[in-house]
Amino acid sequence: MSWKQVADQAKGWLYPEEGLALQIAALVARDLGPFVEIGGYCGKSACYLGAVAQHVGGVLFSVDWHRGSPEMVPGRECHDPDMMGPDGFDSLPHFRRNVYAAGLEPWVIPIVGDSTVVGRYWSTPIGLLFIDGAHDAVGVRSDFDLWAKHIVPGGYLIFHDATIPHIGAVASAAEGFDHVDTVGCMQVMRRAR
Ligand code: MG
Repeated sequence: MSWKQVADQAKGWLYPEEGLALQIAALVARDLGPFVEIGGYCGKSACYLGAVAQHVGGVLFSVDWHRGSPEMVPGRECHDPDMMGPDGFDSLPHFRRNVYAAGLEPWVIPIVGDSTVVGRYWSTPIGLLFIDGAHDAVGVRSDFDLWAKHIVPGGYLIFHDATIPHIGAVASAAEGFDHVDTVGCMQVMRRAR
């Protein structure tokens, strides 16, 4: 299967045109530093970003604790029973299977952990940051605070679900970033040079 076929069948909420917009930003940011996504789930966006990383000799770090956001647990609106494993909710096997099927394992590095904990220890400059992890106001805010400061000049900051008011508010208030485009529910921004 091609990476695109894997991306198309992977579970997740990223539209193809949003994936392509991620790829364009990643191509522009190719020489600026690694790509980082917060929220990997089943690897749909990782296929898009990983395919560019392969093409340019870069890398994507995908940060996710893989135990699901509050809205993904049983009984909530985004719950998928397929995510339930022997230890409860676990999207990591789905992520690994998809990244493997896409042939992208050398370029997609999963970091299994809470982004707010990993973020406290992160220090590498970032070329592109895709924020699509916790969708609650506090979670989005702390992902922005902990990770966006590492984006280099000219690097990209991209929020998914920016049509949700409290996420759009964090995006709009991001100082030092210029609005580039809105694609689907995604807000694409770039750090001023
Ligand atoms: Mg999302």
